[in-house]
Amino acid sequence: MTATAEFRLETRLVHDGAMRSGFGETSEALFLTQGHVYETAEACEARFADSDPGFIYGRFSNPTVAMFEARMASLEGAEAARATASGMAAVTASILGQIRAGDHVVAARALFGSCRYVIEDLLPRFGVETTLVDGADASAWRAAMRPNTRTVFIESPANPSLSIVDIAAVADIAHEAGATLIVDNVFATPLWQSPLALGADCVVYSATKHIDGQGRCLGGVVLGSRDFIDGNVRTFLRQTGPALSPFNAWVLLKGLETFSLRVERQTHSAGIVADALAGHPKLARLLYCGRSDHPQAELIARQMRGGSSLIALECEGGKAGAFRFMNALRLVLISNNLGDAKSLVTHPATTTHQRFTPEERAAMDVPDGLVRLSIGLEHPDDLVADLVGALDAA
Ligand SMILES: *Cc1c(COP(=O)(O)O)cnc(C)c1O
Repeated sequence: MTATAEFRLETRLVHDGAMRSGFGETSEALFLTQGHVYETAEACEARFADSDPGFIYGRFSNPTVAMFEARMASLEGAEAARATASGMAAVTASILGQIRAGDHVVAARALFGSCRYVIEDLLPRFGVETTLVDGADASAWRAAMRPNTRTVFIESPANPSLSIVDIAAVADIAHEAGATLIVDNVFATPLWQSPLALGADCVVYSATKHIDGQGRCLGGVVLGSRDFIDGNVRTFLRQTGPALSPFNAWVLLKGLETFSLRVERQTHSAGIVADALAGHPKLARLLYCGRSDHPQAELIARQMRGGSSLIALECEGGKAGAFRFMNALRLVLISNNLGDAKSLVTHPATTTHQRFTPEERAAMDVPDGLVRLSIGLEHPDDLVADLVGALDAA
């Protein structure tokens, strides 16, 4: 397997993880096989006993999936990676793989709706206590820790509020309490934030977002030290079955080749768009991690290397104002994906965060006028014209 640790990120995104078959193909092969054959029964026995490291069965591993995992580990600077069928499968495995009844889990209140479901609704059904805290408040994190706290889960920047958690500080608090820290790094992307280097034990991604980046397939990945992945995640995934399809792994592997080009361009354009929209009279608020007026700009400068491709806009006039703005757009599409080549707008209060009460949404910083904007690969001037035109018309 190619591993080119001496090279820079862009180079590794094109080459790392590639395993050539006997045909010497240039592009990574798509191994659509759920099983593998063995020369002898003894060879099969050795494979199952782990004394021979080859492939066995698609639920455990697959050559195309393994190439994707190796390239992701190289991108993240992680010792080990396990791919999953979706981002939510990665989130669920990273948490459930570590805990048992009687444990306690702490998470930031501002989370993607499905992540909140896992923490708040699913875990308590199995005898796991959970505490949700205001992610920006260090004393709240400290106060939430208990002797049985096993793991801490955060998103930073959070979906969709773009609120930031001090990853290094929370990692220290978690470790002092004997707990681990999991960071959902979807919004920052591996290009702009490295949670493992800041002290986290585990990073999870929805590869559905910037890693595919072209709106084609679902995928996820869990990354961490070899000990963390082998101890908590590997057996859980192997025995419960949310395996990434080899076809999706191949799509994602090819997506990684253009990953840095796309995310750099999207981030550059997001900066232009944010600056052009800031101060528009139809906006009550604009948040972008690349702007100095983000209320946590100092923390962002410490832990992120770029503002990424997401902008949060709060329209005047609540839901009605947000809907008028969205319906007046001609180029930017209404959808619920993000990180796509196409620029997309989402109204979280009626979609990803619909199941929460207005009070819960307020506590998660998801007001009714909030619109999440994911900047794609279109020319930024076309995006600015469309967005300003729609705000003027709203
Ligand atoms: C989309 C998303 C997920 C879930 O990923 P899927 O691939 O849709 O399962 C988890 N966390 C965040 C922050 C997301 O944006």
